[in-house]
Amino acid sequence: MEKILVSACLLGAEVRYDGKHNLIDHPVIARWKQEGRLVALCPEVLGGLPTPRPPAEVQSRFPLLVTSRDGEDFTPQFLSGAEQASDIARAQGCCCALMKARSPSCGNRSSYDGSFTGRLISSPGVTANELIREGTPVFNEEEIEQLISFIESREQHLDAEPDRLRYA
Ligand code: SF4
Repeated sequence: MEKILVSACLLGAEVRYDGKHNLIDHPVIARWKQEGRLVALCPEVLGGLPTPRPPAEVQSRFPLLVTSRDGEDFTPQFLSGAEQASDIARAQGCCCALMKARSPSCGNRSSYDGSFTGRLISSPGVTANELIREGTPVFNEEEIEQLISFIESREQHLDAEPDRLRYA
């Protein structure tokens, strides 16, 4: 059974910067949760930030600089959260991740540009970037159908594997 790393806020945990969640209502996600496949975590909380917390955005990628709107440096917490999330994904054998779109930590395709004006750039958030760098496919909540196809195709392949080995 394939395991999936998931942004905790997508499963209803109130860990967003404003103390809210981003619960997704999808029957397959509910089933996967019941089957114990989902490994939920919030990288920003893992990295030591409180909830609620000031909103933060990535200011620079090289070198990494993440600050709150009023200029507080959150880079160490974002880095620590990304490292811990990646360690957990590896330890739990997660084949992929489902992460909140556009988050400065979890966004897989884009994130805010650091101006706190809602402008997006096509760079992943800090944790998503770490997972992608290590070869973990990352989907967001707008790509659930692609994620389902990805998991089904992996499981079909795994189911076929014993036959392949028997006739080898
Ligand atoms: Fe959700 Fe990720 Fe933000 Fe945590 S860091 S609240 S899991 S989007």
